[in-house]
This record gives sequence, C-alpha cells and structure tokens, in this order.
Amino acid sequence: MKDTLKTFNEIASLLLEKEKSKPVADFIPSKDVFNTLDISLQETPVVDEVFLNSLKELLLHTPKTATNTFFNQLFGGRNDKAVLGDLLAVMINNSMYTYKAAGPQIGVEKVILEKVCAMIGWDTNSGGSFAPGGSMTNFMAMLMARDSKNNHVRLDGVSERMTVYTSTESHYSIPKNAAFAGIGRNQVRYIPVDSFGKIIPSKLAESIKADIKNGYIPTLVNATAGTTVLGAFDDILPLSEICKKYDIWLHIDGAYCGSVLFSNKYKHLIKGVENADSFSFNAHKMIGTPLTCSLLLVKNKMYLDQSFANEADYLYQTDEDDFNPGKTSLQCGRRNDALKFWTLWKSVGTKGLEAIVDKQFELANVARTYINSNPDYKLYSYDNSISVCFNYKDIPARKLCTLLYEKSKLLVGYGTFNDEEFIRLVTINAQNENEDILHFFNTLEVFINENSFLVNKSFK
Ligand SMILES: *Cc1c(COP(=O)(O)O)cnc(C)c1O
Repeated sequence: MKDTLKTFNEIASLLLEKEKSKPVADFIPSKDVFNTLDISLQETPVVDEVFLNSLKELLLHTPKTATNTFFNQLFGGRNDKAVLGDLLAVMINNSMYTYKAAGPQIGVEKVILEKVCAMIGWDTNSGGSFAPGGSMTNFMAMLMARDSKNNHVRLDGVSERMTVYTSTESHYSIPKNAAFAGIGRNQVRYIPVDSFGKIIPSKLAESIKADIKNGYIPTLVNATAGTTVLGAFDDILPLSEICKKYDIWLHIDGAYCGSVLFSNKYKHLIKGVENADSFSFNAHKMIGTPLTCSLLLVKNKMYLDQSFANEADYLYQTDEDDFNPGKTSLQCGRRNDALKFWTLWKSVGTKGLEAIVDKQFELANVARTYINSNPDYKLYSYDNSISVCFNYKDIPARKLCTLLYEKSKLLVGYGTFNDEEFIRLVTINAQNENEDILHFFNTLEVFINENSFLVNKSFK
C-alpha cells in the first residue's frame, strides 16, 4: 500500500502541475476516445510502466473541473481540506449503515446533520441522511411525502391519484422521481414562473384547487433554492402557507444554492425554510467538497423511519437505531460522504463555510458588473444569483459554447429561459479570484476576435 500511495502522490503532483500549464484538457471527440487512449482491457496483466503511462494519459486527458477555466456545471474547484477527508474515507472504507461497521464515523455524520438542522431552526425531532446526489435526496423527500399522505402505500402500492407541484424551472429529477415513486410523470404539475424565474404562488394555489376538485390528492410541493439555469430562489413563505392550508408536504430542493443557509448575508434567500417539511442541499456544489455530498434534512425524523426502515437481522445486530443510519437511508452499503464535509467544516469553521458561499456571490457580481459595462454583452440573469447568464454580440450561445469546448479554451454551458438562449457562467468555484472571472471574459473575446466568422450574419 505504501508504494501505491507514493504512486498516488506522483500522479496527483503531475496533475496539479499540468493543471497550471494546461488548464483545459485536449478535446477528444467521443468517437475517437478508444483509439486515442489505452483504455481497453486484456486477459493478461500489463507491466507496471505501461500501466502507469496509460493511467497518466487517461487522467491528463480528462476534463479538468478544478481549474479556472471550468464553468460548465454547478460544481468546480478543489478544496484541499475536503479532499483530505474524502481520500481518508477511501482508506478507512467503512460502510455507513451501522455503528458496528463505522463507529465514530456515524458520529461525524450525525453531528453534521444535527448542526444543519439547528441552523434551519428545527428542534431535536428533526433528522436527516446523506444520499448519493441531489436527485436522490429529492427522491427521498418525495417518498416521505407520499407515505405521509398514506402510509399503506408502502405495503399495498399506490392506488390513489397523487399529484406533485414544481416550477417549470425546477430540476428534471422531479418528474423522474415521480415515475420511480409510482406517482407518475403525468401527475407532475409544472407551475409557471415570473420574469425572475420564481414560481408564482397564486398559480400553484389554482392548480391545487383544480386537482382537488378533480379527485386528485395533492402530495408534494417542491420549491427550488437555486434553479438549475437562472439560479433563482422560489419564495418559500407564500408556498409554505399554501402547503399548510391544503396539508401538503413542502420540500425545498436546495441542491444548487441551499448552502446559502451558511451565509448571514444571503440566507434571506431561503427565508421560511424552517416551515418546510424537508430541505436538501449539495455540499459538493456551493460548499465545494468533492462529489458527492448531498444532505437531506427533515423536520420530523419519524418520516425517515416510516419510509426507509426495514428489519434485517443479518445487518442490525448492535446498538440503538439512532446510531444505525442504515435504518433511515436509501441504500444499504453507503459511502462515507460525511467525512469530507466534516474535515472542511472542522478546519475552517462555520465562518469559513460562510466565506466560501459569499465569495461565489462576489464573483458573480464581478461578472455582472463587467457585462453591464460593455454594450457588446446582454445580461439575462439577476442579482443574488451565481448563474450569470449572458450573450455576446448576439452569437448563438450553443454554437459558441461547443466551439470553446472543441478548441479546448473554456468549459461553459448554455441555458434557455423564456425562449432566449444564453451562456451560463457559474461562479461556484470559490477558489477563483476576480481576475479569473475577467480572464474568462478575456479568453472569450480573444477567441471571438480570432474567429470572426462567429459574428457574421450567416453563422448566426
Ligand atoms: C444539481 C441539482 C440537482 C441534482 O443533484 P445531483 O447531485 O446532480 O443529483 C437537483 N436539483 C437542483 C436544483 C440541482 O441544481
């Protein structure tokens, strides 16, 4: 193992060096990937040198998500304290279902969940779990909502016509999960949004009333804290009033930006979160831990037990259920996603997490200020969002983003809202500085200058 760690160090150092000199990996068209790199598997072992070279080549050709040229998705950067925790989680290789198998690591998970619940403002009846991704924490919330309406569903299957409400701008996991949960994709009601991308509460109320009239059972309202394209925050307070009135489970999908909970300056964006029944966020997005680190918090932990507990004599042989989180989780064997969050939180403190969150809004402000000061740009998004959406010289965003990728300049994506398509610059990498954001715009402008056909009418 010690030799392997040496090898790891050597390869990791090489990666870090190359990230500096070459922050974007060379583009390899997917059709060429097996001809370009030695990925194939054989019957017989390869000698160490061949193995090492193949591995290095593979890594160096992999998209570099931690550099200052990656703005493509809702994660980025590399936080060394969190990486340390994740590497150690691999070394100790516990499974997070029982105290017997994971010991104090269960305490690590518990302390994070308890602390976050307290920050939300919930009492000790609250609880939570870690699941492999925000889609899955949303799924857990939907299952609890379903079972809270009718806990016989767990035994007999869904027989009533349940409905789910979410905005047109919400994440695609909602309809997918409705299919998984037996509720059905067609029972998802997409509520329109205002010009800021926020759900319109009066439209939600109308939709619920119409469904009740038609014999449906409204089961879940999903609000989004940071929509995937615009980074918009649904107003939680009016939604929570509607949910209270009609007795509907309210879940806040904060996968993207729910971590504003850690910021005194920005937590007003999720005002009313304490009124929700469940809340989820991805620490691998705004907090910047490695993937995946997804937390689900629930106001009344009884619902976790109701939906996820199962007896299993071969597994649960010791200790209280309270220290056997397998009883309240989606999976059986479970990776230790808590330790990386804990190593980060322990080392920088809650204040440090706040600084990480605030930094991203600062960077977004730098980007918006730049865009607003230059008439060649058109801005589509609003303050208090870390998704900065814009177009440059009316160049079609989709084509521009693809070319930037194929020419190994920048990784950035595009999005659409109200039939407009635009580039979406995500300032989620808190290791970036203001000059990295300006470097992004500079790279873009230089690229367009060098490829003047982009601004021709015919290209558009
Ligand atoms: C990213 C995201 C998800 C999904 O999270 P994964 O961890 O990728 O499964 C869900 N909802 C929103 C709003 C997101 O931005």
